[in-house]
Amino acid sequence: MPEQPELTIQGWGPGSSRVATVADAGEGAEETGGGLELTRDPELPLPKAARRHLARELGWTPRATPPVAVGDIRLAPSRLPEDVHAALVALLGGEHVRTDRESRLRRAGGKSYLDLLRRRGGDASDAPDAVALPGSTAETAALLALCSERDVVVVPFGGGTSVVGGLAGVDPDDRPSLSVDLSRMASVSDVDVASSLVTAGPGMRGPALEEALAEHGLTLGHLPQSFEFATVGGYAATRSAGQASTGVGRFDDLVAGLTLATPSGVLELGHPPASAAGPDLLGLALGSEGALGVITEVRLRVRPRPRTAVYEGWSFRTWEDGLAGLQRLARHDLLPDVVRLSDPEETRANLLNAGGAGARLLRGALRARGRAEGCLLVVGWEGLPPLVRARRRAAVGVLREHGAARVGRRVGESWRRHRFAAPYLRDRLMDAGLLVETLETAATWSALPAVYDAVRRALRGSLGAPGRQPLVMGHVSHGYATGASLYVTVLADRDDDLPLQQWLGAKRAATDALLAAGGTLTHHHAVGADHRPWLEREVGPLGVDVLRAVKQRLDPRGVCNPGVLLPD
Ligand SMILES: Cc1cc2nc3c(=O)[nH]c(=O)nc-3n(C[C@H](O)[C@H](O)[C@H](O)COP(=O)(O)OP(=O)(O)OC[C@H]3O[C@@H](n4cnc5c(N)ncnc54)[C@H](O)[C@@H]3O)c2cc1C
Repeated sequence: MPEQPELTIQGWGPGSSRVATVADAGEGAEETGGGLELTRDPELPLPKAARRHLARELGWTPRATPPVAVGDIRLAPSRLPEDVHAALVALLGGEHVRTDRESRLRRAGGKSYLDLLRRRGGDASDAPDAVALPGSTAETAALLALCSERDVVVVPFGGGTSVVGGLAGVDPDDRPSLSVDLSRMASVSDVDVASSLVTAGPGMRGPALEEALAEHGLTLGHLPQSFEFATVGGYAATRSAGQASTGVGRFDDLVAGLTLATPSGVLELGHPPASAAGPDLLGLALGSEGALGVITEVRLRVRPRPRTAVYEGWSFRTWEDGLAGLQRLARHDLLPDVVRLSDPEETRANLLNAGGAGARLLRGALRARGRAEGCLLVVGWEGLPPLVRARRRAAVGVLREHGAARVGRRVGESWRRHRFAAPYLRDRLMDAGLLVETLETAATWSALPAVYDAVRRALRGSLGAPGRQPLVMGHVSHGYATGASLYVTVLADRDDDLPLQQWLGAKRAATDALLAAGGTLTHHHAVGADHRPWLEREVGPLGVDVLRAVKQRLDPRGVCNPGVLLPD
């Protein structure tokens, strides 16, 4: 298991390695390489201009609301029966079965605003009773059979970055729970360069995977904002989408096969390059969130490392112009690999929050094009130089036809360099008395404007009060021929008396609104515990019954992560 940093209550590893792209192209630079490297950045403070802006917009009074000390977090004694503990030790070895306070706290819940609020208040009621670290598919399958027989709930744990309550471990029967940490299964095997296939362990994190692939001149190119901490198994279990998903595809598209250990046996799924042998059972495992078993191996479709990367900024006068431009690119299969269109509120926040040099750069570039405001579009192309040039040329023509003004490579490179940094700010915002959370959906190009309006209206209605308005910022970041995702960040003055209820009410209003307007329940965060009351609205009662029947066959005692996916 990798060495662990000191345990804290922060939502995002303080002092941990930050990922940045290699090169800062600089003014007038041409194309840069497509590599990634790990750097250590200092903790970024919230710029003063951003604090002032937030205080004005939100009616927020900055105040100190620090989390409790780690030692003050309440943790009930472990309920794992002694004979189950002994059987697990016999199976995995003593060092791989843990009931100590720190091991349990480290696997308590995920990283949603609600998770962080609870933990900051000293509540770790979602902590497992014990932690097991299997080292192989066979050990995982044996562990699942044992837990099924002894009625112990199993919650697979990858990077712990779930933002939808995927690790809450809620069980209607309140049975003892075991967190199954996959970090020992974290290596690459079966590198088949000719077929562009690689097998990876489920506990492998993004940076380690990319490093291992780079040795063979390969990349996966899956870069979610949680890249530093999230794992291959977690990506598969949640159907994650990375920042370059418009080009390389969602994580589901990158999986050629996988191994799923269940209490009823082991399933080997997927048959590359393609198969017509009945319905694709691989699709049942992708997005199964630990409710059907544990993913113990993933066969990935990889690609050669890009020889060229071009990132640049553009500006549209309005959100509507931006959506129309992207939609036109999509229809003609001209979307760049990275596409990120910010609405006016997010564009303004970027200007304020980018920090001294970054904000000056963006402000200067926008002013030079007569666009003090508007909607920022960041685009990126990666691959072989002639292809990148040809794709870019064709896309640029369409962008210009839709009134977009180019604001330059430095803006694109600046985004690329800081693209994993935003989560580090969240702890500081929470420390100062703010509600800060995100939600996401996707809709067809036709429905997207209505979904955008509906979500914003719902959040404002729920979180607004006399003298207080939330800041609701949106962007589109994953494009398809048929539509796009919509990602929303909300900031508001926190209700210090009822913070959980404040967000639960807003989330309920936003989810009802986006579903009614034609959005999906989730584009890439998954269902977890937080979204499961709405799953039936997405897949219908028969769809839920089909999933229940599959679960019943694979997990007859219902021990596999019972608190997620399926409604009560
Ligand atoms: C700051 C931040 C930024 C994020 N950005 C993105 C983003 O850009 N794109 C995106 O898609 N998501 C994003 N997420 C959400 C999250 O990172 C993804 O859902 C990710 O795929 C979870 O991976 P993980 O390894 O951390 O899984 P965990 O959080 O450990 O687990 C997630 C769920 O999957 C189950 N699970 C985990 N591993 C396995 C396994 N091997 N077998 C079966 N079930 C398993 C768990 O039980 C749980 O229900 C972000 C989260 C945060 C906190």
